[in-house]
Amino acid sequence: MNISRAKGTKDIFFDDMKIWQYVEENIKEICIKHNIDQIRTPIFEDTTLFSRSVGDETDIVNKEMYTFLDKGNRSITLRPELTAGVVRAYIENGFSSMLTPIKLWYIGTMYRYEKMQKGRYREFSQFGIEVFGSDSYLADIEVISVAYELFKKLRISDKIALKINSIGCSKCRAKYIDTLKEYLVDKIDNMCDDCKIRYVKNPMRIIDCKQDKCKSAKQNLPMITDYLCDDCSKDFESLKQTLFDVGIEYEIDKTIVRGLDYYNKTVFEFISKDLGLAVGGGGRYDTLVEVLGGTHTPAIGFGLGMDRIILLLKEYELVKNNRNVDIYFIIFDSNIFPKVFKLTNDLRDLGYIIDIDICNRSFNAQLKYASKIKARYICIIGEDELKENLCGLKNMNTSEQIKVDMSAEEIGNILK
Ligand SMILES: [Zn+2]
Ligand SMILES: [Zn+2]
Repeated sequence: MNISRAKGTKDIFFDDMKIWQYVEENIKEICIKHNIDQIRTPIFEDTTLFSRSVGDETDIVNKEMYTFLDKGNRSITLRPELTAGVVRAYIENGFSSMLTPIKLWYIGTMYRYEKMQKGRYREFSQFGIEVFGSDSYLADIEVISVAYELFKKLRISDKIALKINSIGCSKCRAKYIDTLKEYLVDKIDNMCDDCKIRYVKNPMRIIDCKQDKCKSAKQNLPMITDYLCDDCSKDFESLKQTLFDVGIEYEIDKTIVRGLDYYNKTVFEFISKDLGLAVGGGGRYDTLVEVLGGTHTPAIGFGLGMDRIILLLKEYELVKNNRNVDIYFIIFDSNIFPKVFKLTNDLRDLGYIIDIDICNRSFNAQLKYASKIKARYICIIGEDELKENLCGLKNMNTSEQIKVDMSAEEIGNILK
């Protein structure tokens, strides 16, 4: 019987892996330049972490989490998102007593049992950043600009729309929710079952319900942006003005409320213009650290779907050409291997991609292999060459052949 991979998972290899590495290298470079530190948190956490942060009434917690009892009878959940784990780490490791702000980035796998769509898996990866300790809109700008710079570096910034909204603070939201409930009171009976529950538990989430049944009821829905308090309104205005001033294009989308319970004030999403897919999003979560047992700490972050970014790069064929092997070493018998070992590593130290026969194949088979992997050069070393401390170097494009000293510098000079 063949065992195939579990539904919703994938293998990444060869050319695709190179695209992943290309994206990951760019992420790392941008985060280093912004003085953002990397963090790695566990793939599984105590289930309570997610029910308390993401929210009991969300689809994620109710329907999509991979939750199980471990052998010690603890309820464990494979992380469905990464913000909660980073906040837990922030509290548990005493980050609040360290130099503020704390700026963190991560790439990691997450797990949600959900319907499969294009670029959406049950095991998926996100790149995200979380910034703790600033309640200024400047932190919002910093966070959004990191995503924007990544898109620019990957040459997809003009293919992605940034949509922003403000969902207010607890103060202005209370007033808005009363108005919203009043507006919906005679309509809710005709809306979907999920919305009926949301009406009681978290009415704002009715706004992003995608059910046809609920569309007509929502036509003239009061919007939170018309109910923002002075502080929230001033912040939102400053955010919009500064995004404009620094040249980051955005649209206001009043329907963005985000699926998780912990957001407040600034929320945003990145949407692929052509494919209509969400590439990622984020927002402020000024109360979450406190909710999870820490001291009050304003915070903001985003998560971007790595699979969606890769999908876009492939869609627009924007991937940098992969580098081929610079020199393939052809050896006549395995005894020569130790003698060229130092040379191959010296060349690798100089930055070249070096490969060598490890199958004990015939000369012709090695030659064929070198040509199939499109090696730029082959280096032939036989007993005769060894005696003179020389090697034969052949340019595979021009077929030009020369003999050079067995030194990495000499060979490197020819390859330049
Ligand atoms: Zn407010
Ligand atoms: Zn609904």
